[in-house]
Amino acid sequence: MQQFEDKNLDIFEELLEASGELNVRYFPRKLWGHSTELIAKASQELGYIVEPMPKFINFEKCRLCGKCVNGCLFDAKWDGTYFTDEALEYGAELIEDMNVFEILHLNSQVIGVAALNSNNEKQIFKAKKVILSAGALNTPVILKNSGIENVGNQIFFDIFTTIGGYLHDANLKNELMMGVKAEFGPYFLSPHYSMQLLPLMEKKGIKASDNDVIGLMLKFADTCIGTIDSRGHVEKTLTKVDVDLIKEGYKKAVDILLKLGVPAESVVATSLKGAHPGGTAAVGEVVDNNFESRIKGLYVCDASVIPEAPGRPPILTIVAIAKKVAKIVNQSI
Ligand SMILES: Cc1cc2nc3c(=O)[nH]c(=O)nc-3n(C[C@H](O)[C@H](O)[C@H](O)COP(=O)(O)OP(=O)(O)OC[C@H]3O[C@@H](n4cnc5c(N)ncnc54)[C@H](O)[C@@H]3O)c2cc1C
Ligand code: SF4
Repeated sequence: MQQFEDKNLDIFEELLEASGELNVRYFPRKLWGHSTELIAKASQELGYIVEPMPKFINFEKCRLCGKCVNGCLFDAKWDGTYFTDEALEYGAELIEDMNVFEILHLNSQVIGVAALNSNNEKQIFKAKKVILSAGALNTPVILKNSGIENVGNQIFFDIFTTIGGYLHDANLKNELMMGVKAEFGPYFLSPHYSMQLLPLMEKKGIKASDNDVIGLMLKFADTCIGTIDSRGHVEKTLTKVDVDLIKEGYKKAVDILLKLGVPAESVVATSLKGAHPGGTAAVGEVVDNNFESRIKGLYVCDASVIPEAPGRPPILTIVAIAKKVAKIVNQSI
């Protein structure tokens, strides 16, 4: 929120609308799994503030299977198809298997979109308004192809690693993941099972089954330093501030694991990964406060426009931005 306010942009009303429509709820205490409870208790005993994580999950339908990242089989978790289905009911046309590569414009005014179909044939779609939402790794490539050069220079990733170890019968892999978080400002720690932990433990000579793995995700808001070029190649640098955050968060995660009784020699960490790329067509840099680019009628609406790493799951913010863009475009017609 603050980063948008700094750009004189108010999306508070849209965030409220989005929270209501996505049915955002805190993970109820009575549904916390065994390992989540253990991690929350150990964190609190170490003096950390533990909060339930807001989720767009209907907990009456949720079977607590822990497979959210694969897409929910039980229609309990919101996903973007809710909106596309609604748009189709209102008469929108959905064209699939179409690879957009350029936004067409004349005299700085948008005139359409160029794409390749599944047979690699070029197709042109004429339009007076275009909303580009190809995600933070594809939107800047399309913008560069369209003659907008100053994009993709401030990429962020919300970098994460999972730190884990051996705890007999922890069974974390079958719990709802990241149901709570210990908050530390620029980063948080949250119960997380990664399939990479067990092989890493085995390499250290630890004999265990995947039921005996417990872990914590450390996710932090990284500095917006890094680039993406016109072929989509990314170069990302970590600053000293980033490295210090990783060290600090890693130490806290290990302290929690040790408090749970995890043997120090079993502790392992997965490689660093990017969770939520963004910032590649930021508000105030590439698009203005109306999310419009220097090509009139071309709006950008995805994680690219977020100016700084949120360090938190961004979908609610992206939906709020989409609502704002929809209002702006509607008013301009
Ligand atoms: C496994 C996983 C779990 C996650 N869970 C959560 C969560 O619980 N909560 C949360 O807030 N965030 C979560 N995230 C992060 C979140 O999904 C992303 O940050 C978010 O989807 C980014 O939205 P976006 O609109 O910027 O881009 P995207 O969601 O990536 O949408 C871009 C769309 O554009 C299409 N596209 C790309 N290029 C082209 C092209 N050239 N032509 C045509 N179409 C194109 C893509 O196919 C895609 O449909 C998760 C991410 C992953 C990978
Ligand atoms: S844990 Fe996730 S995938 Fe499993 S039922 Fe609940 S919302 Fe769906």
